[in-house]
Amino acid sequence: MQDVFHYWGGEWRKPLGTLVLPVHDPAREEIVGQVICAGNDEVDAAVETAHAAFRSWRLTPVTDRVQPLFRLKALLERDFEALARTITLECGKTLAESRGEIRRAIENVETACGMPYLLQSGFNEGIASGIDEFSIRQPMGVAAILCPFNFPGMIPFWFLPYAIGVGATVVLKPSERVPLTMQMLMQIMQESGFPPGVVNVINGGRSVSEALIAHPLVKTVSFVGSSNAARAVYAQAASLGKRVQCQGGAKNPVVILPDADLDSSTAVIADSAFGCAGQRCLAASVAVLVGEARRTFGDALREAAATRKTGNGFDEVQMGPVISSASRERIHGLLSSIENEGGRLSVDGRKHSLDKGYFVKPTIVEDLSETSELLRTEIFGPVLTIVEKPDIEAALDFVNSGAYGNMACLFTRSGDAARRFRNEAEVGNVGINVGVAAPMSFFPFSGARESFFGDLHGQGKDAVRFFTNEKVVVERWPKEWSRKF
Ligand code: NAD
Repeated sequence: MQDVFHYWGGEWRKPLGTLVLPVHDPAREEIVGQVICAGNDEVDAAVETAHAAFRSWRLTPVTDRVQPLFRLKALLERDFEALARTITLECGKTLAESRGEIRRAIENVETACGMPYLLQSGFNEGIASGIDEFSIRQPMGVAAILCPFNFPGMIPFWFLPYAIGVGATVVLKPSERVPLTMQMLMQIMQESGFPPGVVNVINGGRSVSEALIAHPLVKTVSFVGSSNAARAVYAQAASLGKRVQCQGGAKNPVVILPDADLDSSTAVIADSAFGCAGQRCLAASVAVLVGEARRTFGDALREAAATRKTGNGFDEVQMGPVISSASRERIHGLLSSIENEGGRLSVDGRKHSLDKGYFVKPTIVEDLSETSELLRTEIFGPVLTIVEKPDIEAALDFVNSGAYGNMACLFTRSGDAARRFRNEAEVGNVGINVGVAAPMSFFPFSGARESFFGDLHGQGKDAVRFFTNEKVVVERWPKEWSRKF
């Protein structure tokens, strides 16, 4: 059982709070750690420290600022397996999924290592006679980064390496449900040689987020989580005049045309729907079968769901448990409501022989009414709902009618249909014959409608813009003022 500490000013800090939350291994239902939530004084100390460090870090040359990032990349490679095992322990996903997550975290560090290039901006010589104009990107200040439970190793890195690279300093709050991964990552960052105060971690839940957002020295807020929380964070931060980016929830449709390749598409869609136990913001949650696809793909998806091997992520399985007993009960409750509304569970993941762990096996929902709210509700578990549509027009109408806009995918052999789909789908991330359209680190992790509040996203150049203020300089050097040389 691990205790979780805060970290600021280059030192680990024993928590002083009174609210204690357990951390579970969701596959064994055992307590593996505990979080003591920070109080306002601790939040204040962490932010003050980050602010003090900002004064000198922003003046450190960018070529020096990236050196600890290069070391961080090497140390993350060294501790790759241990990190993956920590994610599986507290989050429940399979080891292969945890490894994939750490790989994407490392890719973001690699991209941020190119900060000398990423920070370059424009220069126009002679915008008028004797006048030049250019812009410089300067760090905003202390960045608050608030993370969800489902990717404890990756999501912090959509923001953190970029904030540090541009010369900002960070106070990061991991999800109170999975704090052990960040504790290990912070140990690695400490070894990487960031000056004290540049990276700081504070633990707790919603009240700690709110205290961080409200702190006058926090200049930017980066949030990833459910849409309700994203909307609340966006409103609080905006009302205080802060720069804010909030990634929210999702309900992702995958449209399958009759010409799609049956075997490869089924495998990819099943991975998307049931991988990470459906707890991915890019999980396929509605399969829209167009025309004849309903016959072939209906059978194939049911078969893929029924045969998926579920168990402890440390074993040879394809899917682990959901995060908590509360999450499992919530999913069970939603599945019962679906049945009450006339939906049919053609594969029912509530029934299984796994006696321990927060398991829900892959589930397929069919015959749910088009008007049901449940068709639009994020379940965040291994549940795929099948709907049928006569043609691509009707499928696109369906894609664009939900509140969320995180991802939509199309499976087809037709380039023409693919071009139309990517043009008309009103979402942030589009997959064409791809089930999890997760942007690489040098593209923004996009999102639209209820899935994203703000304008600049995480990762790559968007993150660089988010953590910096672009200052424009117009300079005039009249000839007549200068000595002749
Ligand atoms: P959550 O909203 O419960 O919590 C996210 C973080 O915010 C946690 O650190 C939590 O302590 C804090 N928090 C919770 N409520 C808050 C509030 N009202 N104000 C301020 N902070 C608050 O989310 P979760 O259950 O940890 O994560 C799952 C959700 O995240 C899903 O909805 C999923 O779709 C979404 N998600 C979205 C993306 C994306 O890129 N769009 C990526 C990953 C996860």
